[in-house]
Amino acid sequence: MKTEFFKPATLSEALALLDKYQEKAVIVNGGTDIVIKITQREVNPEAIIYIQGIAELKEIKEVNGDLVLGGAVTYTEVENSSLCKKYDGLIQAVSEIGSPPIRNMATPAGNIANAAPAADCNVMLLALKAEVVLASSGGERSANIQDIFAGPFKTVIKPNELIKEIRIPQLTANTHTSFIKMTRRKAQDIARVSVGVSLTTEGSVCRDIKIALGAINKFPVRAYTLEEAMIGKEVERGVAEIKEIFPPEATPRKSYKRLVTNVIIERAIRKAYRKAAAGGEHVG
Ligand SMILES: Cc1cc2nc3c(=O)[nH]c(=O)nc-3n(C[C@H](O)[C@H](O)[C@H](O)COP(=O)(O)OP(=O)(O)OC[C@H]3O[C@@H](n4cnc5c(N)ncnc54)[C@H](O)[C@@H]3O)c2cc1C
Repeated sequence: MKTEFFKPATLSEALALLDKYQEKAVIVNGGTDIVIKITQREVNPEAIIYIQGIAELKEIKEVNGDLVLGGAVTYTEVENSSLCKKYDGLIQAVSEIGSPPIRNMATPAGNIANAAPAADCNVMLLALKAEVVLASSGGERSANIQDIFAGPFKTVIKPNELIKEIRIPQLTANTHTSFIKMTRRKAQDIARVSVGVSLTTEGSVCRDIKIALGAINKFPVRAYTLEEAMIGKEVERGVAEIKEIFPPEATPRKSYKRLVTNVIIERAIRKAYRKAAAGGEHVG
């Protein structure tokens, strides 16, 4: 079968192609996940739609205080963006993905659509309550990132839809973020357990917290039970209490993950809290 290659210059051109080819098309963004699948013939598309040439998907901007990452923005572009700096949990997550050449090509949108259980950026986006804006030739819809994942390497994104942008809500005052990834090797390794935290404090009290876990279930999950146990308490007291609670949202297949998950969660909360204690409004 012949495969057609398209490099649309506009979003509407890309959407028209998706409409035409539907599940026979694949979007290639950075290509760091999908090109391997194409070359290994795991995926045999009739049409490849390469979207890195679409200027409107390459923007990083602020809209009403929210951070908006275009659907073709790369990790390197996130790392270098002055608008992204205050989300330093996100910068941390992004800076640990692959290697510089991978980050020059790979994208947060690709991380979402690929939906690997151990994906790093997705975990931090979950802790930040990101919204995913999906475009098709019929219009746009928006979904919270936690509703996007349907299983390992499965999402609710339809064949004629494309991730147009990722919207990250403005950080409220005294909110600090952190990300910790446990790996076997120091460099270029996938997460065995990863934790993203967004912590809002008032003095030493936890006013709000989002704890997202990766590589511990079919897709990234929030540890709601631990979040509830923390809110309204002195951070130190909350951390001491949740040490003893294994998050029921985590269902690891490997037993060692049961031993390390709470340790990583505690470290990630403390990391965010240290930033709160050091002052600064929302230093991420
Ligand atoms: C050596 C190496 C190391 C890696 N290390 C890590 C790591 O440490 N952590 C980690 O999380 N990942 C890692 N990855 C995986 C990969 O780099 C990431 O998942 C990356 O975010 C994928 O982005 P991409 O733009 O390359 O996606 P692509 O490969 O272009 O696409 C991936 C999937 O998403 C779809 N897609 C892409 N963009 C869109 C869009 N805008 N709308 C709809 N669908 C879209 C594609 O059709 C495809 O199904 C690594 C990969 C390699 C090769």
